Amino acid sequence: MTGRLRHKTALVTGAASGIGRQSAIRMAEEGALVCITDIDDEGLAGTLALMAGRGFSLHHDVTQEESWRAAIAMALERFGKLQILVNCAGIGVRNDNIAALEEEGWDRLMAVNLHGTFMGCQQAIACMRQAGGGSLINISSVLGLRGSADALSYCASKGAVRLLTKSIAVHCGRQGYNIRCNAICPGYIATPLGLSVRESLGDEEFQRLVDKHVVGRMGVADDVAGMVVYLASDESSFVTGAEMVVDGGYTAG
Ligand code: NAP
Repeated sequence: MTGRLRHKTALVTGAASGIGRQSAIRMAEEGALVCITDIDDEGLAGTLALMAGRGFSLHHDVTQEESWRAAIAMALERFGKLQILVNCAGIGVRNDNIAALEEEGWDRLMAVNLHGTFMGCQQAIACMRQAGGGSLINISSVLGLRGSADALSYCASKGAVRLLTKSIAVHCGRQGYNIRCNAICPGYIATPLGLSVRESLGDEEFQRLVDKHVVGRMGVADDVAGMVVYLASDESSFVTGAEMVVDGGYTAG
């Protein structure tokens, strides 16, 4: 632990698994107190066990406004302030192409990936103002930068998260809130969600995607967690409204 987040408090959604789990662990290692939330209670317990007692877990569905209120109220009660929010909860849906996707799938995905992120930012800003400032970190994707025939609603949600992020950053800056808001655009990361792409595309097509990462491998959750820690820390005090691409060169070529 080097204490880059000493005296800071955070809430991480989607923390039962993958990028959210690793981000919470890394933030706790850097000295933050972290409220970890998810709909997967068993996964949350697994994450908490790796955080050396530096936080607590909470069942929280990011699609529900009331659930957001309760999560933020609990973080405030336990920590006294909230300075960092990492909006990591996210899903994909089956048949995600313009010919096959049904409205129910579109709505379900948007509710988690986009509406959940919007509600989290809106509610966290009020608390962060009381704390004198903060850092909002939204997880977009390289599929928020590029289109994909097989990820219609996913691309639409992640592109929207990117511009939601910039719009929030400008608003907070103009209002003098001392709140930064940034997006991270990961490439393909070996998590349950990232690896589910192999099932839908098949081995050969999936390997073609992996080969597009010029570093020669898929990412791991820790690759993204390092960027989360940077954006959460005061080292990034001049960074807001940015889209931090962490993709092993996927979009470089
Ligand atoms: P993951 O391992 O599947 O973790 C996502 C977590 O979010 C899961 O624990 C999931 O629970 C939870 N979740 C789903 N719906 C929720 C809801 N309504 N409320 C609260 N939590 C909910 O996925 P990941 O790969 O770490 O993804 C994290 C973020 O990175 C997502 O926003 C994703 O879109 C983005 N991302 C991932 C990749 C990649 O290749 N992995 C690339 C770019 C961006 P359940 O398991 O119960 O659904």
